[in-house]
Amino acid sequence: MSAPLLLSLADRLNGEANKLSPPDRLRAFGAALSGRVVFTTSLGIEDQAITHMIAGAGLEIEFATLDTGRLFPETYDVWARTEERYGITIRPFYPDTAATEALVARQGINGFCAATEARKACCEVRKVQPLARALKGASGWIAGLRADQSEHRGALSFVTHDSARELLKLSPIFDWTREQVVEFARTNDIPVNALHGKGFLSIGCAPCTRALAPGEPERAGRWWWEQEDKKECGLHVAPDGRLARANMSEA
Ligand code: SF4
Repeated sequence: MSAPLLLSLADRLNGEANKLSPPDRLRAFGAALSGRVVFTTSLGIEDQAITHMIAGAGLEIEFATLDTGRLFPETYDVWARTEERYGITIRPFYPDTAATEALVARQGINGFCAATEARKACCEVRKVQPLARALKGASGWIAGLRADQSEHRGALSFVTHDSARELLKLSPIFDWTREQVVEFARTNDIPVNALHGKGFLSIGCAPCTRALAPGEPERAGRWWWEQEDKKECGLHVAPDGRLARANMSEA
């Protein structure tokens, strides 16, 4: 589908999304696209809620995750429990071996702490490149972004056009609060990462994630040594360094 058609479809789906429940947003998104739809789960609580919705509705959406090689043991645990609970397979995408060896040789095993550019280089090899493989050939991408996670994410919308990957991305719980997600997980007995109960709200790689003190913003536990406006790993960022929006003319 051409970029103008994708933009027009994104506008239409955004108009409809306000009136739909998250499972119906997922259903409408899949029905509007002709090709594969991939849900990349980080296994955090938002994504666990979406997994529950997809599996519960029996939607034809592929499950994928990016195993960076630096995840917490608790993340592998919830991954296994999720597959067992829902009878699904979450396909892992790993960093390229040669690229990872070159990265570590160049900047050391924890070189990402030295500078933002070193951190972005690590995220590029361990996350962005595997994501490109996970989404190769897909026409739709599901993500667990919420508007109130950060100022940057609040500027997005339910459906955005990812011009670099030539697909549409749906954030089905974009308008949910953290409290709604937690309540949904609790009432549906959804498996969640044990770290959420220890002050970790947003969970990524182990060396780049810390627990939060009460009242700290949700994304404060990620790359806490960096300035707030640099805290994206590249997964949801356009080639110009900005977060991808529904209509690139807004950017
Ligand atoms: S979050 Fe940290 S360890 Fe994970 S890929 Fe990015 S820099 Fe590397």
